[in-house]
Amino acid sequence: MIRRKPIIAGNWKMNNTMEEAEKLVAHLLGLIEKRDREVVICPSFVCLSRTAELLKDHDVALGAQNMHYEDNGAFTGEVSPLFLKEVGVTYVILGHSERRHIFGEKDDLINKKVKATLKHDMNPIVCVGETLEERESNVTFEIIKNQVYGSLAGLEKEKMGKLVIAYEPVWAIGTGKTATKEDANEVIGYIRKLLAEKFGKEAGDKTRILYGGSVKPANIKELMDMEEIDGALVGGASLKAVEFSEIANYDI
Ligand code: PEP
Repeated sequence: MIRRKPIIAGNWKMNNTMEEAEKLVAHLLGLIEKRDREVVICPSFVCLSRTAELLKDHDVALGAQNMHYEDNGAFTGEVSPLFLKEVGVTYVILGHSERRHIFGEKDDLINKKVKATLKHDMNPIVCVGETLEERESNVTFEIIKNQVYGSLAGLEKEKMGKLVIAYEPVWAIGTGKTATKEDANEVIGYIRKLLAEKFGKEAGDKTRILYGGSVKPANIKELMDMEEIDGALVGGASLKAVEFSEIANYDI
C-alpha cells in the first residue's frame, strides 16, 4: 500500500473577525498534537497576515481560499499570488463549489489559477464534486472527469508533486450529509486513475486526494481508514477549536 502524508485542512469561508480568528487560533494551537500529518488553516484574506504571525514557530500551515492568476494589474478586488506568498501562504483552495456555483467559476479559470499557484511554488487544493442532481442522474464520474481534466489541463508533470485535490460532493457540503466512506473512496480512486492516465502512474500514486463534506470528529477515522482517502477539507467543524483539533488528531 502506498503511503501519502495525510492533510487535514480547515476552510473558514467568510467567517471570523480578526478578534475571533486570534481566539480560535490560540485555542487550536493548544490542542493540536503534532503527528505524521499536515494541518492547514485557511482564514479570510484579511486575517491571513495576523494568522501567519500566530502560526510562527508552530507546525500548522497557512492556506488561502482563492486567488487571482495574474501577479498584478487592473483587477479590482482580486488577490495576487505575490501577496499570498509574501504573508506565508503555502496552500490555496481553488474551484471550491461555492466559487463554482455562487460566483460562476469554470474549469478554464480554475486552470489558470492552478498554474499560477504552481508557478509561485504554492500547493493548489483543487476542489471537484458533483451536485445532487448530477449524482441522481448517474453522471458523477463524467462530471468529475470533466472537472479534473479541465482544471488540470496542460500541467507540467514535474509540478504535479505539489498538487492536492479535494473531492467534495456539493450535496454533502454544509448539509450534515456525508458521502459514505465507500462512495468517497470510489470517486477518489477514480480521480487517481484519471491522474495516472493523463500524467503518469507516479502522479496517480503520489497526489494527495482529500474528501470534503460534513467531516466531523465522529466520521474522520472511518474516512481516513479508506485506502484512497488522504485527508479532509473541513468547513463548518473547522470553526470550532475542539472539533477541528479532534479531527486533526484522529487516530491512525
Ligand atoms: C467545505 O466548505 O469545503 C466543506 C467541506 O464544508 P463542510 O465541512 O461544512 O461540509
